Amino acid sequence: MGEQSVPEQGQDGANTDLGQDRAHSARMYDYYLGGKTNYAVDREAAQQVIRVFPAIESVARVNRAYMHRAVRYLAQQGVRQFVDVGTGIPTAPNLHDVAQEVAPECRVVYVDNDPIVLVYADELLDGSPQGQTGYVQADATEPEEVWAAVKEQGILDLDRPVALSLHALLHFVIDAQEPYDIVRRLLAPLPSGSYLSLSHCTGDFDPAAWQAITDTYTQRGTPVQVRNQPEVQRFFDQYGLELVEPGVVLAHQWRPEAGSGPGVLIERQVSLYAGVACKP
Ligand code: SAH
Repeated sequence: MGEQSVPEQGQDGANTDLGQDRAHSARMYDYYLGGKTNYAVDREAAQQVIRVFPAIESVARVNRAYMHRAVRYLAQQGVRQFVDVGTGIPTAPNLHDVAQEVAPECRVVYVDNDPIVLVYADELLDGSPQGQTGYVQADATEPEEVWAAVKEQGILDLDRPVALSLHALLHFVIDAQEPYDIVRRLLAPLPSGSYLSLSHCTGDFDPAAWQAITDTYTQRGTPVQVRNQPEVQRFFDQYGLELVEPGVVLAHQWRPEAGSGPGVLIERQVSLYAGVACKP
């Protein structure tokens, strides 16, 4: 995707406001990953983060590699339906590519609240002929609206297990927004045998840098709250979720595979907890 292809407006011709007046988390994350779907305002904010914490780029890559392993694991467990909330700007391979490589019949519905993701949603809809993918624009902090929009797509059978992924999302939901209740409500409609996979940034290994990162985002209108291990683990204290081994760990330690992620890292270069659990 060339830089010129980043639209000044949404491609629906309706003057969709992409919010170029301020940095957006999806476009900053795209920049950390080396993508081109970002504006000057995003690059300026991302470069400020990189100045205080150059390892943010490895955090982003570790996060993608975790997604690949977790989704492959879930598909290998027999899960055939996925809802990915906080999808981000498409980055190959996308979640459906990973799931459908294990089982081409996998169905995936993507959810994000940033209109830039909608502009590129075509790249999320190019799955295997046997499977199906969909995209809805909705806000994770309104779980009932998320489910209403997902159901409207008619892609998923909510009587059968679904894997809900909240990857690098919940640090954008501060305590005042009741993130634990949001996760409880997101899990509510899912039947037994469903899964939750999440990843979450932490300041545990470099508190000063993460305070500066939090301030950078928050000052630009995107509140951020990093959490420690028990606080991340608490997201799984819902409906008696059963964590799969090895539990909530640094993301590169979650079922590591040779060749997955950016190589040998120390804890602060990861700064991301992750885990997968099953709804009994
Ligand atoms: N899940 C992807 C992208 C993470 S970046 C990955 O792990 O690689 C975080 C994404 O969450 C961004 O695309 C941002 O737009 C989205 N996001 C943040 N807050 C959200 C909210 N309240 N509802 C829906 N999406 C949200």
